[in-house]
Amino acid sequence: MRIFAGCLIAFLVVVAVFGMRGRQSTLQERIGTPMNGRVEKDDDEWRKRLTDEQFRVTRRKGTERAFSGAYWNSKKEGVFECVCCGQPLFDTATKFDSGTGWPSFFKPIEENHISLVADNSLFTRRTEVICSRCDAHLGHVFEDGPAPTGLRYCMNSAALKLTPKDAGKPSQ
Ligand SMILES: [Zn+2]
Repeated sequence: MRIFAGCLIAFLVVVAVFGMRGRQSTLQERIGTPMNGRVEKDDDEWRKRLTDEQFRVTRRKGTERAFSGAYWNSKKEGVFECVCCGQPLFDTATKFDSGTGWPSFFKPIEENHISLVADNSLFTRRTEVICSRCDAHLGHVFEDGPAPTGLRYCMNSAALKLTPKDAGKPSQ
C-alpha cells in the first residue's frame, strides 16, 4: 500500500511538471514568440549589408517618401521578405492599391512573422510593425483596410525584398 502511494505521488509530480511545461509553451505562442531563430547584429554589421535608405528605415525607424519606393506600384507576384534577415512577411496576393504611395497589405504571410509595438511618436497613436526575427522597422498597421481583415499594413519598400513567384524554377 505504501509503495502504491509512493508511485501515485511520483506520477502526480510528473503530471504536474509536464502540465506546467505545456502551459508555458502555449503562453509563449500566444504572445507571439517566434519559433524561428532570432537574428541580432550591431549597427556596423547592418550598415555593411544595407543601403543607407534601408538602414535608415529599418534600423532607425525611418519612413521613405510616399511614391518614392520600389514597390508601392509593383504588380509583380511573389513574396516580400524582410530586407534585413530574409524572413517571409507578405504575399503579393494580399497587396492592394491603397493610394498612399506605400506598399499596402491586408494581412501578413504568418501572424508570428511580425510583431506589433505601440508607437506614440509624432503626437499620434499608431501601431508599429516590426520583423519578429530581427526587429527591423517595417511600417505601421491601421484599421482602415479592406475585407477580409479590415487592416492596412502600410509598409516601406526599403524594408522589403520581393522574391518573384517563378524565382528559383529552372528556365524552360
Ligand atoms: Zn527581419
